[in-house]
Amino acid sequence: MRLATIHTKRGPRIAALRKDGYVDLQAADGRLPSTMRQLLAGGPELLTLAEQAAHRGDPIPAEEVVLLPPVHDPEKIICVGANYADHAAESGVPVPPEPIIFCKFLTALCAPEQPVVLPRVSNEVDYEAELVVVIGRTGRYIPREKAHEYIAGYTCGNDVSARDWQLRKPGNQWLLGKSFDTFAPCGPVLVTRDEFTHPLRLPLELRLNGTVMQHSNTEQMVFSVEDLVSYVSQVFTLKPGDLLFTGTPAGVGMARKPPVFLKPGDWVEVEIGQIGVLRNPVVAEK
Ligand code: ZN
Repeated sequence: MRLATIHTKRGPRIAALRKDGYVDLQAADGRLPSTMRQLLAGGPELLTLAEQAAHRGDPIPAEEVVLLPPVHDPEKIICVGANYADHAAESGVPVPPEPIIFCKFLTALCAPEQPVVLPRVSNEVDYEAELVVVIGRTGRYIPREKAHEYIAGYTCGNDVSARDWQLRKPGNQWLLGKSFDTFAPCGPVLVTRDEFTHPLRLPLELRLNGTVMQHSNTEQMVFSVEDLVSYVSQVFTLKPGDLLFTGTPAGVGMARKPPVFLKPGDWVEVEIGQIGVLRNPVVAEK
């Protein structure tokens, strides 16, 4: 199933994407909740109802829909650094023996087509195409071999990063550098795990104004999605709707000669096989 969160007059609603448009799932079946977190928390029973409602409901044409991030109110946004060997090499850091984890605040979330705002206190804002895992079940100390049961599905993300804050503040401020408002574009849809074969082999690409800047495959990850889910669950309880950005491959702007940083008027597209394209314009802060 391809699930989205759409803007409606009654507030955010979950919708299923069909060939002919988006079906507001709660409008199609009043037993369904209005938000993605509630739907995922309902487990397989609610997902089955959602699937039936998706077939039955009346579609809204895609051009009339305003998308929000697939999970518009996650409890956590967890991120992983240096999870592709080629990106670790271009960044001048060794491949880490254990995952490097940081987070973004919810104010960083950014919907498809919503502008990424270049903060006036940074001159080095960069892009990072990433597969995003959406957690589907509550869990702590999740064994690696059971980790897939805790994954609801996947979406596209852009781990926007202010390199001057991330790398040149005392102590390397990853959280600050990567958590400016709008620095976590996510979407367009959450594709449920049953639509994928594992281990994942999804082509992943980032285009800046139509030029391919990153092109890789999720099979190149140092730590797999299962490794990452299991690893972080040693520390905190994962909850339905939590997002896990899984790291970026080579080709980021800071590693280019000369470096390429985002500027007002740019368009960034992250495309991942079987999921779709996440597009965001770039604007200056007012
Ligand atoms: Zn990243």
